[in-house]
Amino acid sequence: MRQFGVATTRREEFVDITRQVAQALAESGLEEGAVLVYSPHTTAGVTINEGADPDVRRDMLAHLAALVPLDGGGSRFRHAEGNSDAHIKTSLMGPSQLVPVSGGSLQLGTWQKIYLCEFDGPRRRMVLVQTLASGEGA
Ligand code: ZN
Repeated sequence: MRQFGVATTRREEFVDITRQVAQALAESGLEEGAVLVYSPHTTAGVTINEGADPDVRRDMLAHLAALVPLDGGGSRFRHAEGNSDAHIKTSLMGPSQLVPVSGGSLQLGTWQKIYLCEFDGPRRRMVLVQTLASGEGA
């Protein structure tokens, strides 16, 4: 397994980690299989979405904030740390993504990027990358 750090700079942001994941894959030498990209945090997740238009990320953050307001909106949060919105958004995004690998390359679509989703930054985050070799040989 490999890992890398990400220093986030805002309370909420989507950080493009595609390059770091591709580098970890290259170091592993895996040709066929998949990579599991995993966030071992309770207030930062991992997702895959469009990388071309930054407005997509902005819209996603804005609508997640509308869906799960920082102050809980109508229903007050009980978690004393004051970051329940971040916990909920992290579970909505999920802690990981599994990306197919063929010919030693991530099989992402043309517009896809892998994002670390920060919901309670800025913080130093870790991302784990576990390569999974195909049992079929191809
Ligand atoms: Zn908390």
